[in-house]
Amino acid sequence: MTAVLWFRRDLRLADHPALAEAGASRPGGVVGLFVVDDRLWGPSGDNRRAWLARTLAALDEQAGGRLVVRHGRPEQVVPALVREVEAEAVYVSADFGPYGRGRDGAVAEALGPVPLVGSGSPYAVDPGEVRAARGEPYRVFTPFHRGWTAHGWGVPVEVPPVTWVGGVASAGRPGAPDVKAALPPAGEAAAHRRLDAFMADVDRYGTLRDRPDLDRTSRLSPYLRWGTLHPRQVLAQLGEGPGAAKFRAELAWREFYADVLWHRPESARRALQPAMAAMEVDTGPEADRRFEAWATGQTGYPYIDAGMRQLLGEGWVHNRVRMAVASFLVKDLHLDWRRGARWFMRHLVDGDLASNQHGWQWVAGTGTDPAPYFRVFNPVTQGQRHDPHGDYVRRWVPELAGVAGAAVHEPWKLGGLLAPAGYPPPIIDHGQERADALARYQAARSTSAGRAHR
Ligand code: FAD
Repeated sequence: MTAVLWFRRDLRLADHPALAEAGASRPGGVVGLFVVDDRLWGPSGDNRRAWLARTLAALDEQAGGRLVVRHGRPEQVVPALVREVEAEAVYVSADFGPYGRGRDGAVAEALGPVPLVGSGSPYAVDPGEVRAARGEPYRVFTPFHRGWTAHGWGVPVEVPPVTWVGGVASAGRPGAPDVKAALPPAGEAAAHRRLDAFMADVDRYGTLRDRPDLDRTSRLSPYLRWGTLHPRQVLAQLGEGPGAAKFRAELAWREFYADVLWHRPESARRALQPAMAAMEVDTGPEADRRFEAWATGQTGYPYIDAGMRQLLGEGWVHNRVRMAVASFLVKDLHLDWRRGARWFMRHLVDGDLASNQHGWQWVAGTGTDPAPYFRVFNPVTQGQRHDPHGDYVRRWVPELAGVAGAAVHEPWKLGGLLAPAGYPPPIIDHGQERADALARYQAARSTSAGRAHR
């Protein structure tokens, strides 16, 4: 009477419905399995790989060193382990992403009579559950948020003590690649320490969340990404003040984007606004040179460069800055949003298909609930507003460390002798590129309107 608990995006032991079910119904114990699947491991990027490896190390320790890690295709690995340990069922937290759904279908088929039991998911409310009148999915965040709040969510689940089955061969945890980025501490205990520290100051989230210089957001995204923390556990601790309400709404964005991806899996790769598919983007050597300058934080716009260097330095970027750097790529450099989204996914430790692709589409004006395309983020005034004293820029752009105050956002104005050495001049003129972006937008709209009339 053994069960397998196949861990995926739920790398914790507390508030784990699938683990509670697996442990409760199988007195023979539970085999905890993680499958290193090349189709996910390959495209992950070193930061996410390193963090996953560290998270698995923490989970293994919690399971008394009995976590079984196997490498290969899940539809082969999982049934093979089931035969080996004579398991009666495999328990999982349901995966709602496009790849995960297909993979789980293939595993269920390969398991034959042994059931693959889904219980819980990485979300407070499962994607597909919150629907508008007549069962339609929501396309816009605000009504989704209302529907999500009205739907409500469960309280954290009690997990009875689990007997982990020992003596099962493990291929060993994947090696953690050496990374330069300073990643946060991994594992369930670290996630709860982070949550507790944030909750002690959640009241100020409402007013200070947009200040990358002050760094007052929760930084819980990597833990939520890997399920070392479940949103239910966070929601259960949130009270009623304005800071808590704002924070709940941010968690709802994560759920909204998962819902959109569930209904429209193609949105991971394609513009959700058909008109925007006609938008002209730049390609070729000059476009590549500009992309390189953006990716390495060498655009000559300090706020943008600080953000891109934070991405390389920490594998994480503040939300306001993510929006500004994404807007710069799409509307100042006229590059395809998917190029930027890929770079983010390669470096973000919280890289998540639903939040990333839809965050990019929102900025690019191609997505559901988009920021209007004509709202072009100004890379200078964004910095002046959200980093008013320039501290964020000086932290990430050492060439500008000697420039005092908000002057750091426009180093080209310092002139002659005061101009900081080693920092590039702006690679583009924002005013000109803004006008170019708007012209391309008008052209795309006319092309698409023309098509609609033919
Ligand atoms: P907090 O402000 O403390 O918010 C708490 C939690 O709410 C976050 O951890 C996250 O789970 C959720 N959340 C907050 N804002 C958003 C949002 N706009 N969309 C979805 N969920 C949100 N988030 C990711 O988790 N993974 C990504 O790959 C990702 N890529 C992004 C790409 C772009 C271009 C943009 C504009 C946003 C992206 N986001 C992504 C959303 C957001 O920037 C991060 O969730 C947030 O910065 C994480 O920091 P935090 O935990 O301190 O956030």
